[in-house]
Amino acid sequence: MKLEIKKLNLKDKIDLKGKINLQKKDWILIAIIIFVSGLAFLLHGVIGGKGAGCVTVKVEGEIEGVYSLAEDREIEINGGTNILKIRNGTADMIKADCPDKLCVNQRAVSKNGESIICLPNKVVVTVDSSENSEFDAVTQ
Ligand SMILES: [Zn+2]
Repeated sequence: MKLEIKKLNLKDKIDLKGKINLQKKDWILIAIIIFVSGLAFLLHGVIGGKGAGCVTVKVEGEIEGVYSLAEDREIEINGGTNILKIRNGTADMIKADCPDKLCVNQRAVSKNGESIICLPNKVVVTVDSSENSEFDAVTQ
């Protein structure tokens, strides 16, 4: 019986505290925060949806091309020694004439900074999903 009263009191205290903490201006602030973050999320979805990121293909340290991850395609690298497949926002090396095939065995990359490296062919594929990536996504 005593314990029950104690519990009730505690609950009342929490309720009271909650009411004090959440005044009208706080609710407005929360609404604004939710609205802004929702808007940012939406904008990112609309703008960044197509240009979710891109991959930079380098051969022997030289940029051979930059490709958007939003566009499904197969890219011949280094005159066809390596073939990179872009699908569903990920890049995957599907073919290579290198002896080790390490690049082919590597899993698909999609996150900023991830890379696929083919050492024998000196091919480096790096994901760059920075905000302005869409504007850089120009096939060279
Ligand atoms: Zn390789």
